[in-house]
Amino acid sequence: MSQINFLDSVISNFDRAASHTGLPKGLLEQIKLCNAVYQVRFPVKIGKQYHVIEAYRVQHSHHRLPTKGGIRYSSHVNQEEVMALATLMTFKCAIVDVPFGGAKGGVKINPWKYDPEILQKITRRYTMELIRKNFIGPGVDVPAPDYGTGSREMAWILDTYTTFKNGEIDAAACVTGKPVNQNGIRGRTEATGRGVYYGLRSMFSYKKDMEKLGMTDGLAGKTMVIQGLGNVGSYTGTICQAEGGVKIIAVSEREGAIYSENGMDMNKLLKYRKDTGSIIGFPGSKKMETREAALELECDILVPAALENQITVKNAKKIKAKVIAEAANGPVSSRAETILNKRGVVILPDMYLNAGGVTVSYFEWLKNLSHMRFGRMEKRFDHNTYLNLVNMVERQTGKTIGQKEKNILTRGAEEIDLVRSGLEETMVNAYDQIRETKNRKKKIEDLRTAAFVVSLNKIASDYLSLGIFP
Ligand code: NAD
Repeated sequence: MSQINFLDSVISNFDRAASHTGLPKGLLEQIKLCNAVYQVRFPVKIGKQYHVIEAYRVQHSHHRLPTKGGIRYSSHVNQEEVMALATLMTFKCAIVDVPFGGAKGGVKINPWKYDPEILQKITRRYTMELIRKNFIGPGVDVPAPDYGTGSREMAWILDTYTTFKNGEIDAAACVTGKPVNQNGIRGRTEATGRGVYYGLRSMFSYKKDMEKLGMTDGLAGKTMVIQGLGNVGSYTGTICQAEGGVKIIAVSEREGAIYSENGMDMNKLLKYRKDTGSIIGFPGSKKMETREAALELECDILVPAALENQITVKNAKKIKAKVIAEAANGPVSSRAETILNKRGVVILPDMYLNAGGVTVSYFEWLKNLSHMRFGRMEKRFDHNTYLNLVNMVERQTGKTIGQKEKNILTRGAEEIDLVRSGLEETMVNAYDQIRETKNRKKKIEDLRTAAFVVSLNKIASDYLSLGIFP
C-alpha cells in the first residue's frame, strides 16, 4: 500500500474540482496546502527497553479555528498519510457546515500489539508533546478518535490535558469522542456509521437517480458488502440493517472474509467475533478464499470501512458493486476512480459520507463549552406543551388516547434524540447540496468533484470575507 498515492489522490481530486470553480489561483493554493505540520519522536519504555515512537499532528487549514480531526494509531502512519487525512478534514467540515479547519494526528504503532497500559503511556506522552507545541486546546486544535483509537484514548488525552491546564474552564472541549460519563455526548460512538446510513438513505431516496443505476429507490432489500468491522463498519452495518432493511451478504476483516447469500445478522456476527476473536466460522456463512475477494462480489453497495487505497488500478476493473460508499477515508485511489467512473459505478465520497463523526464531535464540543447537556432546558417544557395539546384533543373529541400512545406523543427530546436529529438534518442537507451542484454544473460528472466544489466555494468565501484575498 503506497501512502504517497493517498496524498496524490487527494490533491488530484482537489485540482479536478478547482478547475470548475473559477477561483483565483493564489487562493486555491492557500486552500490546498497544509498550514502546519508537526513531526515528533519521543521515547517510551516498554518492558525493559526504550522504544522511539514516531508521531504527527497536521493542521491543514487555519481559516477557521479550532482545527479538528482524529488521531490514528497504525503501523502505516507517515507524514503524507496524515497530511492527506488533514486535508480531507477541511473539506469534510465545510461540507457539513462544521465551523472548523481540518487537522489529523497519527502515531506510528500497531495498537493491537500493545496492552492498555502501554497504549496509555504512549497516548499521554503524545498529548504532552501536543500541549508543549500548542497543538491541542479547545480553541486551537481538537482531536477525536480515528482508526485504532476510541473513547478510551480520548479520556486519557483529556486527563493529561487537564493535569497540565488546571483550572482552564473549557478544558473538556480539548478533545471529542470522550466517554459519555467523562464529558462525552450520547450518540458520538455510532455517529460516523449512522451518518453513513443517512447519506446512503438520502442517495437512494431519488427514484430517477436510482433508475439510472438500474435499481429501485429505497435501501430496503439492497445487498451490501462491508470491509472492516471496527467503529465505522460495525455501526454502518447494524444501523443500515435495522433501520434501512439492507441485506449484508459479505464481510471482510483482517482474519479473512465470509459470505452468505441470504444475509447475515450483524448483531449476531459482532457478538460472534467478540466471543471467538474472528468472523470465520460464523454459522450460516462460507469462508471466502481471500479477504480481498469480498470487495469483488456482485452487490448493490460496497462499504470500504477500513483503510485507504483498498480499491486501486489493480482491482478497479473487478469491482461489481453499483455504489461504493466510502465510509473509510480514501479507500478508492484517484486512478481507480477514473476507471470506476467510466464503468458507471457511483462513488459516494468519504469527505461527505463519513462526516457524521465530525458533526457529532462538533455537538460534543458545543456541549462542553456550554457546560450543559442538550435537552436539559426544553425537555420538560416540550412534554408539558404536547400533553396540554393531547388533553385538549381528548376534551374536544370526547375520546381517550391510550397511555402508551400518549407517552409517545408527549415525549420531550433527550440528548440522544437531538444529536440524531441534528446529524440527520446535516447529512440530508449536505447530500442535497452536492446533488444539486452536480446536476447544475453539467461538466461535473461525479459526486466527489461536486462535493469538493461545494466545500471549496464555502472555504473561499471564508477567506474572501477575511479580506486576505481581495
Ligand atoms: P477501527 O480501528 O475502529 O476499525 C477498523 C477495522 O478495519 C478494524 O477492525 C481492522 O481490523 C479492520 N481492517 C484493517 N485492515 C483491514 C483489511 N485489509 N481488510 C479488512 N478489514 C481490515 O477504525 P474506524 O474508526 O472504524 O475507522 C475506519 C475508517 O473510517 C478509517 O479510514 C478512518 O479514517 C475512517 N473514519 C473514522 C471515523 C471515526 O469516527 N472513527 C470518522 C470518519 C472516518
